[in-house]
Amino acid sequence: MKVLIAEDSRSSRIVIKSYIEDAGHQVIAVDNGQQAVEQFSITEPDLVLLDVIMPIKDGIEAAKEIRALSEQDNDWVPIIFLSAMTDSDDIARGIKAGGDDYLTKPIDAVVLNAKLDAMQRIANMRHDLQKANQKLRLMAMKDGLTGLANRRHFDEVMLKEFKRSMRSNTPISLILADIDKFKPYNDNYGHQAGDDCLKAVSQLIQSVIKRPGDLVARYGGEEFAIILPETDLAAARIVAELVQQAFDANKIPHAHSTVADYLTLSLGVASLQPIKNEDITDSIHTIIETADKRLYQVKKQGGKAIVSQ
Ligand code: GH3
Ligand code: MG
Ligand code: MG
Ligand code: MG
Repeated sequence: MKVLIAEDSRSSRIVIKSYIEDAGHQVIAVDNGQQAVEQFSITEPDLVLLDVIMPIKDGIEAAKEIRALSEQDNDWVPIIFLSAMTDSDDIARGIKAGGDDYLTKPIDAVVLNAKLDAMQRIANMRHDLQKANQKLRLMAMKDGLTGLANRRHFDEVMLKEFKRSMRSNTPISLILADIDKFKPYNDNYGHQAGDDCLKAVSQLIQSVIKRPGDLVARYGGEEFAIILPETDLAAARIVAELVQQAFDANKIPHAHSTVADYLTLSLGVASLQPIKNEDITDSIHTIIETADKRLYQVKKQGGKAIVSQ
């Protein structure tokens, strides 16, 4: 564990520090509450030990500030007060200010070690929880089958990129792609093969879209969306052509398509320069509607093509 100690008495700081280091932990030692708060943000410790009476900022005030800081991040780091046995009022105030426990001075090495063990268990749980939360955040953004961004993440990125493109006065483009004759694919090869096919299609599209700011999302069942920030219509059309070329080159077999003997896409491309003071949701609605209409035009013409105007 990383342990932050704030104690103004030099001798007792040195003793506690050596006890904790002997137990195999890393120590950051400071001599007042102000530094404790600063070091808390910088070093992100797993445990904080605070003396109550200290110059500049006392332990009670430091505990309040540390609690507020960790709550901002939806986090919680245990705080233990160091106090003389006689200061029961200080202990009560300390717990009220956000402390979790106390140790009486002079510090008993056995008691300190026992508390370090207990705090280590809490630190481990905290780390597991943080990992699980991070995994959940990622899962909530991803489509379970293909691993692409899901519809919700698509909506979030559209909003963010439209705001950015409004600020920077650059165009943004959207490609909507729909697999041709996917129902006969499922009906003939089976649903599992259909799922595998959707994964392969996702990888193929993603392999073409390399720019870090671009986003490929699963927009619907067998529909995909590609967000291209800072890209005008002509450049977006070229990206759509590259996607189509990848499908022509890879030839995922589809014997039951009436369009070709391999899997093909219909693509609708739209571009827009968001205008300042215009409603962003309206602009987003417009670009999606335009791309969707163009995709529908491709379908009407028999699929396997790109419409961009
Ligand atoms: P078009 O050429 O006009 O696009 O016709 P289509 O057959 O591709 O389109 P349609 O909308 O008629 O059918 C889409 C099919 O996609 C039907 C649905 O069962 C299938 N589908 C949607 N999501 C999934 C999925 O997650 N897994 C599988 N295996 N199939 C899916
Ligand atoms: Mg003191
Ligand atoms: Mg469809
Ligand atoms: Mg389709």
